[in-house]
Amino acid sequence: MSSDGPMRQTEQFLHLYHPPAINGDFTGKHIISVEQFSHTDLDIIFSAAKSLRERVAQKDPEVVTLCSGRLMASMFFEASTRTDMSFQAAMRRLGGSVVSASNGVQFSSVYKGENLADTVRAAGCYADVLVLRHPQIGSSYEAAYYLDRLNERIVTPTSVISGGDGAGEHPTQALLDLFTIKDLKDGPDNLTITLVGDLLYGRTVHSLAKLIARYESQNTTLCLVSPPSLRIPDTIIDTLDKHNVTYYETDDLYEVLHKTDVIYWTRIQQERFARQADYDAVRDNFIMTPAVLNQAPRDVILMHPLPRKHEMGTPADHDILDQNPRAVYFQQMENGMFVRMALLAKVLGVESI
Ligand code: ASP
Repeated sequence: MSSDGPMRQTEQFLHLYHPPAINGDFTGKHIISVEQFSHTDLDIIFSAAKSLRERVAQKDPEVVTLCSGRLMASMFFEASTRTDMSFQAAMRRLGGSVVSASNGVQFSSVYKGENLADTVRAAGCYADVLVLRHPQIGSSYEAAYYLDRLNERIVTPTSVISGGDGAGEHPTQALLDLFTIKDLKDGPDNLTITLVGDLLYGRTVHSLAKLIARYESQNTTLCLVSPPSLRIPDTIIDTLDKHNVTYYETDDLYEVLHKTDVIYWTRIQQERFARQADYDAVRDNFIMTPAVLNQAPRDVILMHPLPRKHEMGTPADHDILDQNPRAVYFQQMENGMFVRMALLAKVLGVESI
């Protein structure tokens, strides 16, 4: 198919565009899948994130010069709090600037019916890096495909970083999740990591499971706990098999909770269900409460990508959980900013981190 062929369905770009392996060099690359990262690439990002975290804590004045003069475009076609804000905060803490359509993409030319490829190319003409979240699987692949062709013809080439592709992937969330597991539990080696909830539509668990596999960790067990109708997709299971990761699928949390080192709790992705009745059938299957957490080992950590709804119990339960040192989702959230700082700086070719 030629690049100027008819408009294609977004999902087709999963086959049309092949994200480049990082191979130790992030400069100018699109970041759209965890499949791009090797163990070494992950260690590069994690050590840069750790060092930036220390430098920010020490108020090192040089941090704010690292990306000065560089521009990030933020395009979110789906709701976001943490991903959007942490990318913006990351870019500003590095001294860069952020542009976005006033009042969000719903008031951009998308409102007039502009297609994704043209909207992305508009950002591509103005920015050095584009953070894109879109409800369709393959949207960041489509963006990368068109940006590659645009970049040959403009003076400010742009890399796209995925902020979440529908029910597909959320690569930067997986980076911050694995960073947190490494940071707080010295993992993922020798750990039992239990992913709970909506493993079918939850893009964060898709990316995290694949990233753990790609990290080639030793003696890691993944417990995959979900209602039978929300099992993790077979493509992810294939990746686990390919990398010889030990995994165990169940719909009974209590089979595995007592031997778990890391609990990764998730929201049922209501917005991805075609029928309300299917959502209602599973919405209350897994509810984390202080009593449930107490049945896990004392040194367990409780992670959640957030936002949380009733799967974390009542607001009173939230308050109690938040005070429990085992609940680390706020550290996880802050780590997201440092990991995204590291990634932005690397993609923008900053040498000194
Ligand atoms: N914030 C995460 C995401 O964008 C998790 C969620 O929405 O449940 O995928």
